Amino acid sequence: MLLTSERPALLGGIPVCAEPWPKASTIGEDEKRAALEVLDSGGLSGFRAGPGPRFFGGSRVRKLEQEWADYFGTQHAVAFNSLTSGLQAAIGALRIGPGDEVIVPPLTMSASAVCPLVYGAVPIFADVDPDTFCMDPASVEKQVTDRTRAVIVVHLFGHPAPMDALLEVARRHDLAIIEDCAQAPAGSYRGKALGTLGHIGGFSLNVHKTIQTGEGGVMVTDNEETALRMRLIRNHGETAVESFGIEGLENTFGGNTRMTELEAAIASVQLRRLEGLTVHRNRLAARLDRALSRLPGLRPQRRLADGSRHAYYFYALRYSEEECGLPRELFVRAVRAEGIDLRTDYARPVYWEPLFQKRIALGRGGFPFRQNPNGREYRYPRGLCPVAESLFEGELVFGRFCHWPLTERHVDQVVSAFQKVIENRDIISRYAMGPRP
Ligand SMILES: *Cc1c(COP(=O)(O)O)cnc(C)c1O
Repeated sequence: MLLTSERPALLGGIPVCAEPWPKASTIGEDEKRAALEVLDSGGLSGFRAGPGPRFFGGSRVRKLEQEWADYFGTQHAVAFNSLTSGLQAAIGALRIGPGDEVIVPPLTMSASAVCPLVYGAVPIFADVDPDTFCMDPASVEKQVTDRTRAVIVVHLFGHPAPMDALLEVARRHDLAIIEDCAQAPAGSYRGKALGTLGHIGGFSLNVHKTIQTGEGGVMVTDNEETALRMRLIRNHGETAVESFGIEGLENTFGGNTRMTELEAAIASVQLRRLEGLTVHRNRLAARLDRALSRLPGLRPQRRLADGSRHAYYFYALRYSEEECGLPRELFVRAVRAEGIDLRTDYARPVYWEPLFQKRIALGRGGFPFRQNPNGREYRYPRGLCPVAESLFEGELVFGRFCHWPLTERHVDQVVSAFQKVIENRDIISRYAMGPRP
């Protein structure tokens, strides 16, 4: 007979974690002061469409861009109202358009895979590596055609993608690399900041990210023309192209994806917290790594190149049903009953969405999947990226276990819950198979 305290919560025992975890907010007094200053000034946005210095935004937007470029060591930083807008601008700035293909990962937030469509280019999915969950360079290379223009690399959950091999593929085929660092600000690869290894890097300041302004995004690049083109796309480029003497007008028109002074002021303060928040996440993650790798069937996402740093947006693991002895869904249900928010729902392969299955993006005729000027037709069948599908369907588990203000005590609750479920796997399986004991 089990003691009540040891009995799995799924079977009516006392949960490991009975109290809700503290709410995460990195917004403090400095952010409040910065926001109030903007409100007092009355100048909530400094942008103006058309030639002149205000084309580039207000003083706080320009200050944030300078600080961001300095922090990451790039020539240029361009602020947007979201990273989604920034990624679209990156595609446009590379002068990608109808007839072109862009290689993207299937396991990611949809924006990173969908952005090429906005300019009429086709997303082509490359599979991921089963241990890092990031793009597999060999799969990328297989997808390259004479129409491929760029690769969007996502440092998923904060884990740096294998950039040496990806850059090598890009160099061989003359492709641009756009790094989506939404989940990996202050992560690094072989001593270099993520976002600065490819041709363009992008960061999100959305409320869920490590540092945030509610909504916002920043793109970085060393290429002056690319930076200017992103700025044109951000702010009604059609009104300013002449004054910049831009040749090649394509993709420069139509947008307002500008950041306000309020967001920029808050982001400047948040940027100063980034390093400390990342160190915090890594400290908690290292504790989880040590404890969880002793348990059967759970392998933390971690195969970092030397001198690299994970940013731990999520703490993710590869789950083996065979080694652990419970179907993943039952394991997750049992851990959740212990009060730990373990999840499996994040990275549904993007090409499973109706957009790709029904192939309706721009207009009703199926463009650019059908009626493409390059004469090709594009399909997204099941099994297109088998590793990604298998991770999503049966192997991936993750949670927000490392963010500020969590402490070692919370991390230890995660470990205790996992341990308790694994120790009780026999009675949990029996319970799931039949009537309650
Ligand atoms: C959050 C996120 C985005 C989108 O960022 P927004 O600023 O919300 O538009 C893109 N890619 C990834 C991987 C993300 O996690």
